[in-house]
Amino acid sequence: VLAGLIASLALGARPAPQPQNVYTLVSADGRRQVPFRMASGTDLVPLDDLTRLFGLTVKEDTLAGGLTVTTRGQRIVLTSGQSLASVGGRIVSLSGAVVRDGRTWYVPVDLLSRALGPALNLHIEVRRASHFIVVGDVRVPEVTARLERQGPIGRLTVDVQPPTPHHVTRDGNQLVIRFEADAIDAGPVSGLASDLATNARVEGASLVADLGPLVASFRASDDPAHFAIDLLPPGPVAPAPPPVTRPAPVQVLPPVVELAPSGAIRTVVIDAGHGGDDPGVRGPAGTLEKDVTLQIARRLKTAIESRIGLRVLLTRDADESVPMDRRTAFANNNQADLLISLHANASIRAEARGAEVMTLSLEDYKDRARALQASRVEVPVVGGGTRLIEVVPWDLAQLPHAARSAALGTLVVRHLTEQNVRLYRRPADQAPLRILAGANMPAVLIEVGFLSNADDERALGAEDLPTAIVAGLVATIVDVRAGTTPPAGGGGKR
Ligand SMILES: [Zn+2]
Repeated sequence: VLAGLIASLALGARPAPQPQNVYTLVSADGRRQVPFRMASGTDLVPLDDLTRLFGLTVKEDTLAGGLTVTTRGQRIVLTSGQSLASVGGRIVSLSGAVVRDGRTWYVPVDLLSRALGPALNLHIEVRRASHFIVVGDVRVPEVTARLERQGPIGRLTVDVQPPTPHHVTRDGNQLVIRFEADAIDAGPVSGLASDLATNARVEGASLVADLGPLVASFRASDDPAHFAIDLLPPGPVAPAPPPVTRPAPVQVLPPVVELAPSGAIRTVVIDAGHGGDDPGVRGPAGTLEKDVTLQIARRLKTAIESRIGLRVLLTRDADESVPMDRRTAFANNNQADLLISLHANASIRAEARGAEVMTLSLEDYKDRARALQASRVEVPVVGGGTRLIEVVPWDLAQLPHAARSAALGTLVVRHLTEQNVRLYRRPADQAPLRILAGANMPAVLIEVGFLSNADDERALGAEDLPTAIVAGLVATIVDVRAGTTPPAGGGGKR
């Protein structure tokens, strides 16, 4: 589980609020915009906006430097500078600190899902990557579309999660894909071309594109999760390949990234999350995250050693507590070529399930990267003269590896998918993760499933799922060693 991992990286000066930075909040009442500003590893939203939207009563306790938020008789207590909230006496952790700036209070956006939702007895989902807040029982599927040229035709391939029925119509030179939903969460459409389709945009629950001069008609395949729309030129068209039914593609990276030259991988460090007096999350049947991660780590080590013949080191091989920074240092000191950190997830939504693959988000490191440019220092060297060395703050070690880590994450997602491992929502997520931040090699964190979900808990304790996860990771390492790169082209969502 991530709660304990979210980096507490003080980013120094906070960026000024940017008016264009908004979350779109979708509820049964419609859409609203909630401004936010980025702060060390989280997004902060003004409490005033939430007060208005949810009809909250806020009372400031100037003496204690805190706030009491009351809603439907439930009390949420917030303290300036603290990344915790008390909800009806229960403490929940937040992804960042509550901040007071003049008269305005800012709260981490996940206060909505972690504190406000439970207090209001309302399901609230915060999608950090796409800046959506989904409140209550509304349908906001994630839509990914890309256009590809296939001979004379243009094929628009669309993935929808969760699967949602749609209708495709043509209105003049506009192609309209209307989803049976309250809104859609769609990233930019990749591969647009002026002769086929341009200017793709979201209008309500529809994806709309302007058709180019070469398009005379279209034909669409019908599948609520994955469908294709062929844009056809005038006149007879040679039979095109049948509309796609292959599984949804994983997130695709913009450039081809060389993960490792062939044979360059010698050492893999596997990190079994938690341990000792830190059990991690606990499933309804009592399964502990620390046991799940250790069991899979051991199996993975055996599989890699016996099938690929690499050196595999575990950050722990017993039920013991190992501090986060020591795990990273262990990987660095052993000059690991890859770091794989294993965790299990938990959610207040019992139905949330599936594995999740995460790499470090560069977004949160932009400011620091800039600072890094300025931190070259001259040092005297043996034999006279000086040399420029780069001062790399400990938690910036991952920066130069970020692209390769993202490529590694894409490979993991691809191979887990091949092994029929169910994935949770967004395929390869990026997040600020403490364990990865200091790693001086490509590094990826895998949440193997949700222990809060009874089916996932059972599957992680059985034979098939751990076997499939291990097989997917072994296949990933085989690819990395062979120098295989993840698919190029396209462009993921944001
Ligand atoms: Zn964990």
